[in-house]
Amino acid sequence: MNFDSVKANLNKQIAVKTINPIQRARLKPSSLRLAINAQCYECIYDKSDIGTWRQQVEACPSVDCPLFCQRPKATSQGETS
Ligand code: SF4
Repeated sequence: MNFDSVKANLNKQIAVKTINPIQRARLKPSSLRLAINAQCYECIYDKSDIGTWRQQVEACPSVDCPLFCQRPKATSQGETS
């Protein structure tokens, strides 16, 4: 079995999961979902505060924000998706 191809694919998957939402949105500029995720991440995420960026965005108190109903929510799988 050729493990080099498996390792390269795994490294690519890990790299995609470790980039932040702003970087992810830049990889696919036509995605409205990724753009909203990036905007909310940039708006509220504080890495010195508790919780993942999704948990912090989900706890956003700004109900008057136009993106409030479309903000990303925390997933059971953590940071991904
Ligand atoms: S929904 Fe909250 S976190 Fe997202 S852009 Fe609006 S104010 Fe910022």
